[in-house]
Amino acid sequence: MHYSFKGKKVLVTGAGQGIGKDIAKTLFEEGATVYALSRTAENLKKLENECPGITTILCDLGDWKATEKALENLETLDYLVNNAGIALKQKLSESTEETFDLMFNVNVKSFINVTKIVTNKMIAEGKKGAVVNVSSVGGLKAGPELMIYNCTKASVEMLTKSMAKQLAPHNIRVNSINPTVVLTGMGIELWNKVAEDYRKTLPLQQFPKTEHCTNAVLFLLSDLSEMTTGSYLPVDAGDLLN
Ligand code: NDP
Repeated sequence: MHYSFKGKKVLVTGAGQGIGKDIAKTLFEEGATVYALSRTAENLKKLENECPGITTILCDLGDWKATEKALENLETLDYLVNNAGIALKQKLSESTEETFDLMFNVNVKSFINVTKIVTNKMIAEGKKGAVVNVSSVGGLKAGPELMIYNCTKASVEMLTKSMAKQLAPHNIRVNSINPTVVLTGMGIELWNKVAEDYRKTLPLQQFPKTEHCTNAVLFLLSDLSEMTTGSYLPVDAGDLLN
């Protein structure tokens, strides 16, 4: 069965590269009106050239007020994909307040801020909708030197459930996807030399690609999952079985 995104309006955060870019491009190719938000102008320029007609929004999601300003005139949407995230490695013994604040600002606080803005508009217009939060296997199990990142993604798990409960009466569903290592800029930076060893531990012995994440996001946005809310969908090659 195929679901059509033609005429649907969607905001994708962190759409400048990696998983978010693939999600934004695919939704655009599927006929959706796509608002692609990210932090680096050069990446958004490239996206505009690849997808003429896509609307880009330059914004640092770590800045609550700047985000409110950037999204204040956004029209009412059907869908939101909270994808932007950062992952900085830091051992417990070396933890700093700066790293904690930076990661929580982008990975957690911005999800609340953006979802509030987008869903308040949906509610005001009585519009049905769906939100997908890009979480991680790291929200469900601890990784090496990733304690703070793991905590941000564990927070996304609870945000997803809490948002789902609050928004269900408005016919807005909220779910997450939980990828294992994907070899984007972030994945390569984090896993570097140990990626190959980690890949071999996965039951399916392969890393998911960005398109596997996109497929899961599109399913959770679409009416094909219309009775699913407050859930997570691993894109993990079986990682959570380990
Ligand atoms: P990338 O680093 O490749 O891309 C992240 C995107 O988010 C970039 O476009 C980046 O902007 C944007 N971004 C980061 N910080 C901000 C900010 N403050 N304001 C606005 N935009 C921002 O990462 P991935 O594509 O790999 O990751 C996407 C999501 O998937 C993240 O939430 C990540 O935690 C999650 N994930 C990734 C995994 C992996 O192995 N790659 C595994 C599990 C989950 P810019 O253009 O400036 O770089």
